[in-house]
Amino acid sequence: MWTKNPLAEKMSNIHYYLADPEVRKLSWQNRLSSPAWSAKPNAGHLALVGLEKKNKLHALITQNIDELHQIAGNSPDKVIEVHGTMRKVMCWGCGMRAPMQKALDRVRAGEEDPKCRDCGGILKSDTISFGQQLVPEVIDRAMQAAGEADLFLAVGTTLQVYPVAGTVDVARQAGARLVIVNAQETPFDDVADAVFHQSISEVLPKII
Ligand SMILES: [Zn+2]
Repeated sequence: MWTKNPLAEKMSNIHYYLADPEVRKLSWQNRLSSPAWSAKPNAGHLALVGLEKKNKLHALITQNIDELHQIAGNSPDKVIEVHGTMRKVMCWGCGMRAPMQKALDRVRAGEEDPKCRDCGGILKSDTISFGQQLVPEVIDRAMQAAGEADLFLAVGTTLQVYPVAGTVDVARQAGARLVIVNAQETPFDDVADAVFHQSISEVLPKII
């Protein structure tokens, strides 16, 4: 896709985003029309809400940026978003965070590249772009939660992107059992206590 559309790659890269107003204008148009705004939680999300209702959910570490776990009903304080959230904006000048929809309202009203109202800085979705550092405090929180688990459910991830995949090692070293639910194989399949290469929406509700 990026070969066909080099601009798409630029929009995903923090350096181009900060340097080029044209990249930002296109990014805002893409945000306006994102299919994520109408996405709904699926049976897998709802199963994890069920786990929390049973008081069995210590933490939910996610690489998703759509907040569908919170929308499904998981407590925001249980959800650790290692790649941030597309439902907020963050100012690169002052660090201010605000709801994405308010910024999108400004785009709909004609601002092509809305700036921070506090400091005039560049606004971007509060997500981790390519070239952007993960937030150390968030990763620390994920590692700590993993180390406190007695069961680690790895769902819908190939467990190949570090440092987040390292939560599996932390949990195992602390004695947690490991259950993997993922369509493809993962590097941890051999050491897992159970592996399901099946649909999350079918398997996860049964496990819970
Ligand atoms: Zn600002």
